[in-house]
Amino acid sequence: MTDTSELPAAIGDVYETVVARNAHEPEFQQAVHEVLGSIAPVLEAHPEFVDGGILERVVEPERQIVFRVPWVDDAGRLQVNRGFRVQFSSVLGPYKGGLRFHPSVNLSIIKFLGFEQIFKNALTGQGIGGAKGGSDFDPHGRSDAEVMRFCQSFMGELYRHLGEHTDVPAGDIGVGAREIGYLFGQYRKITNRHESGMFTGKGVQWGGAEVRTEATGYGAVFFAQEMLGVHGDMFDGKRVAVSGSGNVAIYAIDKAHQLGAKAITASDSTGYVIDDAGIDVDLLRQVKEVERARVDEYARRRPSARFVEGRRPWEVAVDVAIPSATQNELDEADAAALIANGVRVVVEGANMPSTPGAVDAFRAAGVLFGPGKAANAGGVATSALEMSQNAARQRWNFEDSERKLRSIMRDVHHSAFAAAERYGHPGDYVVGANSAGFERVAHAMLAQGVI
Ligand code: GLU
Repeated sequence: MTDTSELPAAIGDVYETVVARNAHEPEFQQAVHEVLGSIAPVLEAHPEFVDGGILERVVEPERQIVFRVPWVDDAGRLQVNRGFRVQFSSVLGPYKGGLRFHPSVNLSIIKFLGFEQIFKNALTGQGIGGAKGGSDFDPHGRSDAEVMRFCQSFMGELYRHLGEHTDVPAGDIGVGAREIGYLFGQYRKITNRHESGMFTGKGVQWGGAEVRTEATGYGAVFFAQEMLGVHGDMFDGKRVAVSGSGNVAIYAIDKAHQLGAKAITASDSTGYVIDDAGIDVDLLRQVKEVERARVDEYARRRPSARFVEGRRPWEVAVDVAIPSATQNELDEADAAALIANGVRVVVEGANMPSTPGAVDAFRAAGVLFGPGKAANAGGVATSALEMSQNAARQRWNFEDSERKLRSIMRDVHHSAFAAAERYGHPGDYVVGANSAGFERVAHAMLAQGVI
């Protein structure tokens, strides 16, 4: 990721500094390269952003917190994990972004996610800054009691950096309803405050918002619907490949079915299932969320499905692909296979699931490509709605909340689409999303001075 030859000089210099300063952080470098590589027209139109040192500042987190998380497992053994919170930008609102618990988590991953989050959150128009956190803790195979002790230790340190006006975490990979409950409980105990708005994704019985659980997956499908709509097309009758089998994948499949499409795949790190009858969302939820089993278990119980071990679903012929597992899960060869099979739309349910080579291939082939920053913004946007409801001590119903999500995704699409046109790259949602998000952040940074 050190090739700066295609970047204009002002941008190239900043990128080289990023590479030198963050030499061992390939994912962070990749995320920065993707944004810097597409905002040259914005800087041309706004030389004040260059003069105001926006680029140099926006690539450096406002604060990075790395801490020890000691806990005792069920066998009485001491375990030590590493905890992270990268508070990247608070120029548009309190730091906002999820926590990821996964063995692959390191500073590079958290910084790439935090950096993406700044622009994604800006695109939602909801007044939220950008942050991300997590730990290399692996909840798989751990008992509820172990997960609780880990969460309590994690929050025992992180609480001092959080607050409804300071930093508001939520879930991400490995952090769902169970973990959020334990984390919120520990914060409440330590601070002696029932501060609802300090965490989003809470249970709907205790301050959580309707539709937050469904929002990322639903939002990605709404975004795809908008992209298709520009071309007078719709979701009805489409064949859809989804990767992953967590929260994003499950609700992307659910919404695709509601709109008359057929989602035929789901996956995890062991392989994928293909189900020609369409994925049964209730069974997938039962296997993955209740039993916390692997996807092959789904195929065992479903006569119309089979499990393909060790492979990814991108070899299946589909009209729409929704990568919803994790970063860099769809590479250039996968993109070539999807294109050869006639894929029309790719929307990223996960954060940065397509490698740079895959993104280039989609754009070159004229595939409609919705980058995660825009396409998966429905989750965090609904988090912002949860914060509003908590602040106002209100509770909106499911229908109103979904309507609001639908309209936010329409706005996100419009912002990205219009920015792409304005900056001379019509139809290019990568340029559009990065430019529209960056513009909002840069204007606010300029107005607020050198901070
Ligand atoms: N982790 C989600 C994301 O990647 C949601 C973050 C949030 O709701 O704060 O956007």
